[in-house]
Amino acid sequence: TAKQRGKATFVRYVDGMGEPVLAHMQLGGELRRALDNDELRVVYQPIVRLGDGALVGVEALVRWHHPSRGAIGPAEFIPVAERTGLIVPLGRFVLRETCRQAAAWLTEHGPDALPEAALNVSARQLHDPDFVADVSAALAESGLPCERLVLEVTESAVLRGQQVSRTLYELSRLGVRLALDDFGTGESSLSLLRAFPAAIVKLDKSFVEGIEIDDGRPAAADARQAVARAVIQLARALGLSTVAEGVENAEQAAVLRELGYTTGQGYHLAEPMTAEAVSTLLASNEPVAASGR
Ligand code: C2E
Ligand code: MG
Ligand code: MG
Ligand code: MG
Repeated sequence: TAKQRGKATFVRYVDGMGEPVLAHMQLGGELRRALDNDELRVVYQPIVRLGDGALVGVEALVRWHHPSRGAIGPAEFIPVAERTGLIVPLGRFVLRETCRQAAAWLTEHGPDALPEAALNVSARQLHDPDFVADVSAALAESGLPCERLVLEVTESAVLRGQQVSRTLYELSRLGVRLALDDFGTGESSLSLLRAFPAAIVKLDKSFVEGIEIDDGRPAAADARQAVARAVIQLARALGLSTVAEGVENAEQAAVLRELGYTTGQGYHLAEPMTAEAVSTLLASNEPVAASGR
């Protein structure tokens, strides 16, 4: 996959420099140039209804097509972007591009075509005093209705202080929805859920991994499923929607469905794809993932 290629490229590069810090500094400079030179692209991974494989949304994921190093995955350059502050213009690019694209899908395929478009927001962006105005402007410029936009934040990003709480409150007042990403991997998931104006929790893929293993010992299976089960019960009690991340095979989809998850995301259901590929799916009116069932 592009991600694996991206990783390999970067690792070779670090080895070549012999000095990861220096490599990061140079990558930071190149990232600045990449923003100006149109080397960043957004791909979209379908979010799928497990019952019938229908497309219920997409998550925007940024990609860097480096002119000489090839594809570099976000796991490599998002941390660099956060350290250098470049995440603010980068995030603004993803925000505007996703809103523009989602609005175009609605125009092209009608209001029922795509209920929601999600994108990732980092801690640094939540600290940016202009962030709420940026979101508001991206919605206004694109014409995307606010309730179609989902902003994904992680628990660790949300745990940082007064400015962030205020920003999250203002975002929910705008009418966009907030999702807690990678849920369960953070430090204080439970207390956070009560205080945070989230509408959606995304069960982290680490709790989906192995969930389908049947070694003939029901107690062991129960233990592997315990977090996924607890999260869905909690979400229901608090009136939140859920998305299970990292669904890699049909057996996992089946177990998640039994546990009560209605929605999933993962390579088994659909891989991240170009905007054009999403348009083709929307035009076909077919389920995204026959195997979601
Ligand atoms: P995330 O938000 O949790 O996004 C899901 C990641 O899991 C994506 O990796 C996706 O390609 C991958 N994935 C999807 N299905 C499966 C599966 O079945 N199995 C496994 N093992 N992985 C799966 P990706 O695109 O490499 O992104 C990694 C992370 O980088 C994202 O995690 C997100 O935290 C961050 N990221 C990506 N785009 C942006 C962005 O525009 N802004 C910010 N701030 N962060 C971003
Ligand atoms: Mg995400
Ligand atoms: Mg996630
Ligand atoms: Mg994740």
